Amino acid sequence: MRSLRYSHDELSKQEKQKLERHPLEIYEAIRNTYADDLSKMSEVPGEVDRLKWAGIYPQKQGGDNFMMRIKVPGGVLTAEQTKVIGRIARDFAGGPHENPHFGDNFLDLTTRQDVQMHWFQMRDIPEIWDRLEAAGMTTVQACGDSARNVLSCPVSGLDKDEAINAYPVAQAINDFFTGNRDYGNLPRKFKMSVTGCCEDCAQAEINDIGMLPARNADGELGFNLRVGGGLSDGPRMASDIDVFVRPEDAVEITRGIAQVFGELGNRNNRWLARMRYLVQELGPEQFRAELEARVNVPLPPAGEDLTRHYRGDHTGVHEQKDGNLYVGLNVPVGRMSGLEFEEAGRLAGEYGEDVRLATDQNLIITGVPKERLDDLLAEPLLAKYSPNPGPFSRGIVACTGTEFCRFAIVETKIRAVEWAREMDERLGEEMKEAGQDAVRMHFSGCSASCAQPQIGDVGFRGETAKTAGGLVEGVDVGLGGSLGRDAGFIDWIEGAKPTERVPDALERIFRAFKDDHREGEKFHEWARRKRNGELRDLLRDRESESARVGAGRRS
Ligand code: SF4
Repeated sequence: MRSLRYSHDELSKQEKQKLERHPLEIYEAIRNTYADDLSKMSEVPGEVDRLKWAGIYPQKQGGDNFMMRIKVPGGVLTAEQTKVIGRIARDFAGGPHENPHFGDNFLDLTTRQDVQMHWFQMRDIPEIWDRLEAAGMTTVQACGDSARNVLSCPVSGLDKDEAINAYPVAQAINDFFTGNRDYGNLPRKFKMSVTGCCEDCAQAEINDIGMLPARNADGELGFNLRVGGGLSDGPRMASDIDVFVRPEDAVEITRGIAQVFGELGNRNNRWLARMRYLVQELGPEQFRAELEARVNVPLPPAGEDLTRHYRGDHTGVHEQKDGNLYVGLNVPVGRMSGLEFEEAGRLAGEYGEDVRLATDQNLIITGVPKERLDDLLAEPLLAKYSPNPGPFSRGIVACTGTEFCRFAIVETKIRAVEWAREMDERLGEEMKEAGQDAVRMHFSGCSASCAQPQIGDVGFRGETAKTAGGLVEGVDVGLGGSLGRDAGFIDWIEGAKPTERVPDALERIFRAFKDDHREGEKFHEWARRKRNGELRDLLRDRESESARVGAGRRS
């Protein structure tokens, strides 16, 4: 799709490269050439960048080491697909050194219902793709400037409380965009979410397109449309452009929005190329008019919004609308071994129906008859990935961090698991008594927001911290984020805190919450009610901090 805004000379370097060779051509190039001879890839300008369209990133370790991301639309995996992914991790995702906490051959469940694995070698990619495609899965457009995995509520079609089953809509949108060359070259990544539950599990407000359940004036169920949401350095809640989307029009409307973005989005400066900047520039009314001019369905006004609050958590045992149960397992920071993931697939096949991946990096086994629940709960996998964890382990989310990511400033995954465990030991029971069954702590290793720190009860962002003993790994700390009806980003309260001081700081904050919160008040509500200065004082605890700096302790 060509830009209507820029002449060829005005395009950024990356945009010119995308015009020289369509990024989706990388898929065949890997199969036909690079898997046999990786050195040939450096002969084609821009080819390393194009890998993203095949769901592949070079790892920071360099050489023949790659990360691969598998798209899981709506987070729904059959038992067999789960086993296939687990076996791929087991067979191909082994690194030269074991991770001291997670071992080897592991995979990561992401906040976009994808699965990521590391240490793949290019020669193995065709076989991995063969296995995935035979099971009905793909990595195409899992990354790159195109439509990414489409989010949906992970218990779509099952939850007793949903307004409409959005999974078929998410699947149809995914099918339209995947491999579609006409929409495979957008100015930047393009993220979509469609949910029919009333709890905003699919995080509509922080996507380029968010669809939330709604009822129009005729009583029809569908979705209200939001556009231009996102996190990272310029976080923005998506704008309501006053459109009701009937389920059968959803593909055409998302196609039209992609066309608006492709034709009018910024292709001159990648820092300003995300769709949220276009929505901001045009304003909701003009954006709506541009969309109306490009779609062949009417755009009726928004209906009654049916979203009540933000949940983002399905841990525990819950009844489905058909009387069976779904069991949400807690996978702290989303990392488990390939063998364990394979085992999750076996359990889904033996006790239930399928596996669902949630946006909080946890997984769910669905369709468990009540009489089989006790047997499922007695399985060893559920002892490790418990449906009844402490509140901090339950809510912990972390990005890749320094282990694999070239942008990371700090290590995230191990640290996040250890902090969550430590906080559960110090305060877990007290937080439960205070009505906080899950404490959503989100840890990103840099400012790029892959772990969505802006929507956590607590958000961490990797930074370098200065101490009397020198420079150490640190974090910015923010408090009070949430989505749903009271959506709001965290306020960044404290900058560059040395990581070793974080658990004590958290304990002070959560003890203050426990002593001071009002009946039924959640942590993010309490944090928003308090003055930032007061919260900062709690995080800092000036006396003990200066004593520690004086002693020159290091992280
Ligand atoms: Fe890497 Fe930063 Fe994203 Fe974490 S948030 S995975 S450190 S880019």
